[in-house]
Amino acid sequence: MTVLVVGEHNGQVLNPAVASLVKAASEIGGDIHVLLMGNDCAAVSNEAAKLTGVSKVLTATADSFAHHIAENSAAQVLSIASNYSHILFSADSSGKAAAPRVAAKLDVAQISEIVKVIAADTFKRPIYAGAAIASVKSLDSIKVLTVRTTNFDAVTSEGDAPIEAVEAVAPTTKVTYISSQKIESNRPDLQSAKRVIAGGRGLADEKEFAEMEKLADKLNAAVGTTRAVVDAGMAPNDWQIGQTGKIIAPDLYIALGISGAIQHVAGIKDAKVIVAINKDPEAPIFEVADYGLVADAMDVIHQLETKL
Ligand SMILES: Cc1cc2nc3c(=O)[nH]c(=O)nc-3n(C[C@H](O)[C@H](O)[C@H](O)COP(=O)(O)OP(=O)(O)OC[C@H]3O[C@@H](n4cnc5c(N)ncnc54)[C@H](O)[C@@H]3O)c2cc1C
Repeated sequence: MTVLVVGEHNGQVLNPAVASLVKAASEIGGDIHVLLMGNDCAAVSNEAAKLTGVSKVLTATADSFAHHIAENSAAQVLSIASNYSHILFSADSSGKAAAPRVAAKLDVAQISEIVKVIAADTFKRPIYAGAAIASVKSLDSIKVLTVRTTNFDAVTSEGDAPIEAVEAVAPTTKVTYISSQKIESNRPDLQSAKRVIAGGRGLADEKEFAEMEKLADKLNAAVGTTRAVVDAGMAPNDWQIGQTGKIIAPDLYIALGISGAIQHVAGIKDAKVIVAINKDPEAPIFEVADYGLVADAMDVIHQLETKL
């Protein structure tokens, strides 16, 4: 049994989620290979080779892999897929774009967003926006999985796996890269931050969100929000947490003026400590909160700011 981990990177650093994917792979068992695709994999392949438990790093180097086009990544994975019992992708936008293409071509059922490995053929995954957890057993000969990496600890970096170049598959897709817009921010990344502060519709306007951001900077926290706020145009789309936003698992999550709709809670349930501030004592967020404060969100922001 050999497990293939599809490792994301930006050419300079390996995505931290790869270390968690390797952890999930180690719970499945067998050898673990990490596949890296890019136009320069030199630095990141050394990083991947150090991940504990990895037995081989494969690099496919070509310009067509420079911009993470899912069609190209899927074709590369398919070229070596028959060597593997399991193929693991991160359940992020890149993994969610490539994995179904691989599963469809292999004519197997993709198992999405696993949160636990029970056995090599059985996995746990959330359903109904996280309201229930299903145990799924797969009889497919190759199991294509996307993994919620926040549910698996990162492995350490004590390995020394060999690095092997594989032939890069020539692109056949008509999809071409045009441009990308990078959001520059000095704040921690929302999905990997240890602390997250999020504001909901209980914050009245952009001025109040700016106050929340000031507090976030004092706490070195990432900022997030609800879909209702994004839909109202008060915060950017990449701040959205929840079922149709980002799934996060910080050590500390502070919800300011957020009601706690099931679709939002689906994205925060794995936070270690949830603190909710809401002026309505009946707000559903208090059902999932470790600490709850019935108070006005802005009062709390100002009080915390003076205390920190
Ligand atoms: C298919 C689908 C997918 C969805 N996906 C997502 C998703 O990914 N993420 C997401 O967040 N939502 C999602 N939603 C929307 C979700 O159902 C809720 O509408 C949304 O989360 C509510 O956002 P909110 O808590 O900011 O607003 P509200 O529900 O309006 O809650 C505002 C809260 O603020 C409190 N409040 C008001 N004033 C103050 C004050 N001064 N101080 C303190 N508290 C105050 C109120 O008591 C209330 O509890 C989805 C919905 C659907 C149908």
